[in-house]
Amino acid sequence: MAAVAAAPFSLKDFFKSFLLVELFKGMTLTGRYAFRRKVTVQYPEEKTPLSPRFRGLHALRRYENGEERCIACKLCEAVCPAMAITIESQQREDGTRRTTRYDIDLTKCIFCGFCEESCPVDSIVETHIFEYHGEKRGDLYFTKEMLLAIGDKYEAEIAAAKAADAKYR
Ligand code: SF4
Ligand code: SF4
Repeated sequence: MAAVAAAPFSLKDFFKSFLLVELFKGMTLTGRYAFRRKVTVQYPEEKTPLSPRFRGLHALRRYENGEERCIACKLCEAVCPAMAITIESQQREDGTRRTTRYDIDLTKCIFCGFCEESCPVDSIVETHIFEYHGEKRGDLYFTKEMLLAIGDKYEAEIAAAKAADAKYR
């Protein structure tokens, strides 16, 4: 077994340790920041601003006349890397196609935003909502009705975020 060589004695290091130089350096740094403006927030009472591109809870949107935007093209289902979206569709009497089932399993979702990017009619979106939870797996399985209800409730915020982001696209 090879012997471990002892570190050479350094007078400089000895005095640095003896005089607690490192400790005082640390205390100086702490003191420098102690009276600066605080950058931490008291969540949940205080919140930081969110980008218009923030990717939170999903929603399905409608047009102003109440018609669902989704045309059941299934691009979002195809592009989803987590295979979290399940769509079934049917042709209506007027010849248009709409979903009969649109589910997102949020326990699979990785919030990549590909579904929103792929949608040709701005139907599926990710909202600014991040304060939600589930206590069992099924609680995070969102059906079409649930997603439309979120879209109806937050349409004003969704439209504002889309408008704010539009000039960068
Ligand atoms: S955000 Fe990404 S992982 Fe989640 S449903 Fe959309 S495409 Fe799938
Ligand atoms: S949400 Fe958009 S991409 Fe997905 S099926 Fe509907 S229209 Fe197509």
